[in-house]
Amino acid sequence: MNILVINCGSSSLKFQLIDATTEKLIAKGLCERIGIEGSQIVYAPTGGEKNVNVTPMKDHTDAIRLVLAALTDEKTGVVKSLDEISAVGHRIVHGGENFASSTVITDEVIKAIEECNDLAPLHNPANLIGIAACKELMPTTPMVAVFDTAFHQTMPQEAYLYGIPYEYYDKYKVRRYGFHGTSHSYVSQQAAKVLDKNYEDLKIIVCHLGNGASVSAVKNGKCVDTSMGLTPLEGLIMGTRSGDMDPAIIEFLCNKEGKNVSEILGELNKKSGVLGLSGGFSSDFRDLEDAYEKGEEFAIRTMKAFCYRVAKYIGSYTAAMNGVDAICFTAGLGENSPFVRRTVCEYLGYLGITLDEENNAKRGEDLDITTAESKTRVLVIPTNEELAIARETYALVK
Ligand code: ADP
Repeated sequence: MNILVINCGSSSLKFQLIDATTEKLIAKGLCERIGIEGSQIVYAPTGGEKNVNVTPMKDHTDAIRLVLAALTDEKTGVVKSLDEISAVGHRIVHGGENFASSTVITDEVIKAIEECNDLAPLHNPANLIGIAACKELMPTTPMVAVFDTAFHQTMPQEAYLYGIPYEYYDKYKVRRYGFHGTSHSYVSQQAAKVLDKNYEDLKIIVCHLGNGASVSAVKNGKCVDTSMGLTPLEGLIMGTRSGDMDPAIIEFLCNKEGKNVSEILGELNKKSGVLGLSGGFSSDFRDLEDAYEKGEEFAIRTMKAFCYRVAKYIGSYTAAMNGVDAICFTAGLGENSPFVRRTVCEYLGYLGITLDEENNAKRGEDLDITTAESKTRVLVIPTNEELAIARETYALVK
């Protein structure tokens, strides 16, 4: 059964066609600059040649029309007709408290997603446009919404409430929601498989370290805490986001710099994190690691602050779960940086962790990077959010 996975941004659209029965990737691609001059579609059938087509796309419906045309193309396509696409799985960023799991998309579901637009004004409207476009072009194909926030809905109150007047939770649902849920769920379940243990018996910490980064605590198969909050700005120091800080800094900087709150928030989202800490050098960890190795002071302070924050979250989630069986690293940096994994683990001697440096140097597969004597396991698990979305979709429509 072929599932089309769609991840719609405001001007971009990523897609994958996955055979959910064999879990094989059939084709993938990306539409960029939708509604902007110079739009293009990149289409890559598995085992075939990657094709880039610069062509106008005035909106997301145009983009999806091109995706479907590429998938069914006589020469380079991978299916004969749209009938061979059994369902569409949509990544939806914010499900608020309305969704604790994936769901088949109906008119009521669309309305409930719209209700969450305030919570993710940049993302949810784009996700909804993707749903509308697919509905127009494939009206009879079932669609499923898979939420970034859903996995975290099991958090207990003490983990999701902020220490602010309760009426703000009551009135506006201001609370911790968390993101990257599909990845945290996929990686923690995969960890149980690698360890050959029951998912429900384990205490797992997942460090999703990409450009956006978050940590989650998963106890007995349920998320009990996560580092991102009402928005993805909270938690770790990220590529360009500040992560945790004293909220009073915002007013302080407004006064000092003569800027308004939105301007400062823009800086906290786009000019902070490792980009800001390194004095504007780079948000890419590869550049920062190179500079670190050359002994550049700005790179040393940045990498140290980044790794320290990750280690601090691992410590607090170990406390929250009263122990930890396995710590997992995933996403761009978590999967590819032996340096970051080693530096974080150097803080974790109290957990009896001893790294296996040979395995820590490997990449591209599920790995246990600790020695046999290590009291806590440390795993590298490549994330696969698209496959997780295809699995969820398949489970609901098969
Ligand atoms: P996102 O999906 O949030 O955009 P990714 O999961 O793709 O992010 O991760 C991107 C980050 O991973 C970048 O900062 C990049 O520098 C880092 N990264 C990728 N490969 C490596 C590598 N070999 N060494 C260090 N960092 C890497």
